[in-house]
Amino acid sequence: MAKIEKIKKIICLNLKKDSDLLKSIENYCTKENIKIGFLFAIGALKEAKISYYDQKKKKYFLRFLKKPLEIVSCLGNISLKNNKPFVHAHITLADRKNNTYGGHANEGCIVFAAECFIFQLEDNLLKRKFNEETGLFLWDFFN
Ligand code: ZN
Repeated sequence: MAKIEKIKKIICLNLKKDSDLLKSIENYCTKENIKIGFLFAIGALKEAKISYYDQKKKKYFLRFLKKPLEIVSCLGNISLKNNKPFVHAHITLADRKNNTYGGHANEGCIVFAAECFIFQLEDNLLKRKFNEETGLFLWDFFN
């Protein structure tokens, strides 16, 4: 566990058409030296790549959605993985018939338009470390 006293900065970001959702947020964080934070975004994607983590097989199962979709909700956090800002985000998407899809967001979510709030927190609080039990890179805390 870690306690955070305050938010350092709140950034409003328009993500560019045809950009990759996760990569563009990570690139922005690298450029602006944002190491720890959380985010939310709404908007639309041209296509999406989401996944589901199978807890027994310890493996992500990918799903490509090759159609325009609304971003109903996208929530994520930013922490350091291999000393670089890493975005872990989950997303709910809706199609023309308002059917929804949801899961872990992967690179390959291509933006049509998206409005993103990034809440930058104090630095050097979290980093990711491989966890044998889950097969995932989970939060580890700096002392
Ligand atoms: Zn996830």
